[in-house]
Amino acid sequence: MRVSESGEFGLIAELRKILSGDREDIILPPGDDAAVFRAPGGELMAFTTDALVEGVHFDRAYVSWRALGYKSLAVNISDLAAMGGCPSSFALVVLGLPEDIEVENINHLYEGMMKCGEKFSCRIVGGDIVRSPRQLFISVSVIGGLPRETFLTRAGAGTGQSIMITGTLGDSAIGLDWLKRGGGGENACARKHLYPEPRLREGKRALELGAAAAIDVSDGLLRDLGHICEESGVGARIMAQEIPISAAAFETARELDEDALGAALSGGEDYELIVIADEENALAMRAEIGLVRIGEITQGSGVTVLDASGRMMQLEKTGYDHFGGA
Ligand SMILES: [Mg+2]
Repeated sequence: MRVSESGEFGLIAELRKILSGDREDIILPPGDDAAVFRAPGGELMAFTTDALVEGVHFDRAYVSWRALGYKSLAVNISDLAAMGGCPSSFALVVLGLPEDIEVENINHLYEGMMKCGEKFSCRIVGGDIVRSPRQLFISVSVIGGLPRETFLTRAGAGTGQSIMITGTLGDSAIGLDWLKRGGGGENACARKHLYPEPRLREGKRALELGAAAAIDVSDGLLRDLGHICEESGVGARIMAQEIPISAAAFETARELDEDALGAALSGGEDYELIVIADEENALAMRAEIGLVRIGEITQGSGVTVLDASGRMMQLEKTGYDHFGGA
């Protein structure tokens, strides 16, 4: 079977069978936003990695080197946010470079990374540079301590709990289309696509306020909430009209003749957090960190979306899979 047939998630399921977490210092085995292990000194560490590949994740025609650097670090910090945050972290950066890249541009790339690192207390401590025959790629790994001994996973959701979201959804996907069609980077949606804001503070506070589970939205709300359902053995019901969509997303979608709700449900790369919590804790999170409730965890499996009149919506596109699997 080819990877295009198994799909990204089929492939991950296969690998999880091989990579069993059968050592007592592996606290959280593969399959979550980050791995968690216990360092010899006793502290829990969260460890994650993400790669950006030219032609797959970005096109140099509309992404600046600074934005590319910023984003390559931000997407990793977002995974730490989904674990409940690390107060400080460290990154290793692998660059795969075609030979014709200007050194000056690599400086800009690192300026972008450093800007993100300064903002979120992540220090770049090393890496590797290799030649890549055609496409540029950037692979970043980030590690950070979890001093509170607790963290959030995708597996903690229970029936009746609230489903909440930080920020707004759909902006990044709409911003990408805007950029692809020659729109400028000053559009608010384009800006969110280029410079996503990892929700590190919100993730940390959600953990402190008793969240049950969390994930960051990298592949789209339906797909990422679907991961929580699978790992927690539950279902989810969300109300389409409760999903926070920015005025800029509505406006830009209208200009592009696109569907803002569709982008909010299935568009990737917003790097907001989906947080699951009991009603009482959910109220505190809504009041203190501005989370918005969009639905609830149910029995069963899979994600159901209800429209304004309470009818079940039929959904075709459910999110991003790197190899196009269902
Ligand atoms: Mg993630």
